[in-house]
Amino acid sequence: MVATHPTTNEIWSWLDEIADPEIPVLSITDLGIVREVEWDDIANEFRVVITPTYSGCPALDAIADEIRRCMREHNVERFRLTTQLAPPWTTDWMSDRAKQRLQEYGIAPPAHSLIQIEAAHPVCPQCGSSDTKLVSRFGSTPCKALYTCSSCLEPFDAFKPH
Ligand SMILES: [Zn+2]
Repeated sequence: MVATHPTTNEIWSWLDEIADPEIPVLSITDLGIVREVEWDDIANEFRVVITPTYSGCPALDAIADEIRRCMREHNVERFRLTTQLAPPWTTDWMSDRAKQRLQEYGIAPPAHSLIQIEAAHPVCPQCGSSDTKLVSRFGSTPCKALYTCSSCLEPFDAFKPH
């Protein structure tokens, strides 16, 4: 018996429509939360691997529920959702499109590597100034830090790099 099933590309595009619960302008694939979509010939099922952005983020359960709902909506019954904690998620997994959208949304995107973070403060999403100050390591969610801009004096959230 030959079962037909969607391609992994189709599944990627469906998952790309699932918004991150904390940053609704970004999809879970933008953030790099979805690591792998594979068809397992032996188990005869899809394997979807996700990695939480922050271990403290309660959003992962909501994301897992959304993925299950999405797969069922597309009549994919045979799939296994796996959470993978290693290697840990890093902000480098975010797509460039994701960083651009963050900026448009008013959240400073993470700097690319840890070395850059130490050296430079995030650029103000309001006015583009790099003259910014860390106010609190915790912004509106544990994933973000609160900064203020010394040029336009606006506070803003920055996605915490890690
Ligand atoms: Zn500013």
